[in-house]
Amino acid sequence: MNIATDARTCSGLQGQSPNQLGRLGVIMSDLTKNFINGRWVESPSGATFESRNPATGEVLGVCTRSNAEDVEAAVAAAVNAFDRWRKTPAPRRAEILFRAAEIMLRRKEDLAQLVTNEMGKVIAEGRGDVQEAIDMTYYMAGEGRRQFGLVAPVELPNKFGMCLRDPIGVVGAITPWNFPIAIPCWKLMPALVLGNTVVFKPAEDTPLCAAALIAILEEAGLPPGVVNMVLGYGEEVGAPLVEHPQVPCISFTGSNEVGRQIAIKCAHLGKRLHLEMGGKNAIIVMDDADLDLAMDGIVWSAFGTSGQRCTAASRIITHNAVKNELSERLVDRAAQLRLGYGLLPNVDMGPVVNEQALEKIHGYVMIGVQEGAKKLVGGERATDGDLARGYFFKPTVFEATPDMRISQEEIFGPVTNIIPVRSLEEAIAVNNHTRYGLSTAIYTRDVNRAFTAIRDVSTGILYINAGTIGAEVHFPFGGTRGTGNGHREAGVQALDTFSEWKSVYVDYSGRLQRAQIDVE
Ligand code: NAD
Repeated sequence: MNIATDARTCSGLQGQSPNQLGRLGVIMSDLTKNFINGRWVESPSGATFESRNPATGEVLGVCTRSNAEDVEAAVAAAVNAFDRWRKTPAPRRAEILFRAAEIMLRRKEDLAQLVTNEMGKVIAEGRGDVQEAIDMTYYMAGEGRRQFGLVAPVELPNKFGMCLRDPIGVVGAITPWNFPIAIPCWKLMPALVLGNTVVFKPAEDTPLCAAALIAILEEAGLPPGVVNMVLGYGEEVGAPLVEHPQVPCISFTGSNEVGRQIAIKCAHLGKRLHLEMGGKNAIIVMDDADLDLAMDGIVWSAFGTSGQRCTAASRIITHNAVKNELSERLVDRAAQLRLGYGLLPNVDMGPVVNEQALEKIHGYVMIGVQEGAKKLVGGERATDGDLARGYFFKPTVFEATPDMRISQEEIFGPVTNIIPVRSLEEAIAVNNHTRYGLSTAIYTRDVNRAFTAIRDVSTGILYINAGTIGAEVHFPFGGTRGTGNGHREAGVQALDTFSEWKSVYVDYSGRLQRAQIDVE
């Protein structure tokens, strides 16, 4: 089954019967609804919003536009389902996740095409998005039989001590559009396997991907109320979810601007908050680097997903000795990238997500020019032929200095800056000097330099001789400084976000034993 068979006319989901689309078609045949207490329901608001293909401008679906009333219903369902779900043995909870992963695997191509249609990334990357979701779901299903606690010796006789994980309650999961299948799974799967229930608020740009994922969890057998999804905008759905008194844990991935607002609210309300926000990631290229290898890593990291990855390389910190050669080669490679609708063959780079993104990126190009940065290639909207129908921006390379705004602020588009430096020490200092701390890469053939970088680079992720993107689900993912708030997504570390530690002491002495006092 092929969701977007007609790549020539870019017809997306149009013209496919619900039967052809299978389960996806049931959700997307007319109005895409909320999922509350195991039922697909419209918002009583009666309002709607559209999901559009950013490559073609075509409407893919019409969705119910929710508000605080829908959040209230979703939270009530999640609260109601919590006690039963937390008492369901973790291996049984995990079996449902395992089935969901199997369904995702079978539907991988359909889901990938949906990602490309709704969010714009090229189909190979759409498949990667879905594969990451599958990997995360299998991995967290494995946690059904792990979630290891700790048993340790205790200081008094005839006493036993252990600690174990408890679920928190209702988790509010708020996600961006750039990984519309993977990022929701990074939050939902650990939260669920630990015994929490969830109210999920996906990005307004990718509601159909979210609905497709939730339909898979429904099909896998998740009981009513355990996962609920409310579609709509940040202020109308996200804000009431953050503020709801019966949602003790919020997990947010998105921009710093929104994340900071949420942090202030959660601090006032005393909520547990997990933040994954922006990046200003750098690739350091030393004078001994394999430049062919570095060039492939730079092009992939700077222009993959049209630069719309939190780990995208928007700074290329380059040793002076190789700067001219690297600049020339990068300009050449950027100019050769083929832009287009991501389901068409031979397309290297898709559109950016929407009109506002296009304006923001263009605004930063203007800022860079005003700041005196040297524009080497690109810098404008791409409008040739069919590209005029979508939101395409030409791959852009500047030569800039470390303190310019374009070297400090997240642009979230296909724009990268070459920043010349004289030494490894200067490169690392420049790398560490931004408000973000997500991902860094270094290209060098010198093992001493590689280990110096491992010691001194202060981002949450570091690659040696590979670009800034390529995280795997069993390693912790997240950033230092303004990128996050100390939590990590993925790996066993993700379990800490969605559970409370409970220490348990069992005294089988039959008498009062006082810790720290009866020390004989
Ligand atoms: P965004 O902050 O605009 O939106 C993210 C989500 O928050 C959306 O669902 C949105 O509706 C919701 N939201 C908006 N206002 C809200 C409010 N007042 N209260 C509650 N929720 C609200 O971000 P975006 O444009 O969707 O995503 C791009 C950003 O995400 C970039 O900054 C990128 O770096 C970041 N990101 C970070 C990671 C990471 O793991 N560090 C991964 C992917 C994306």
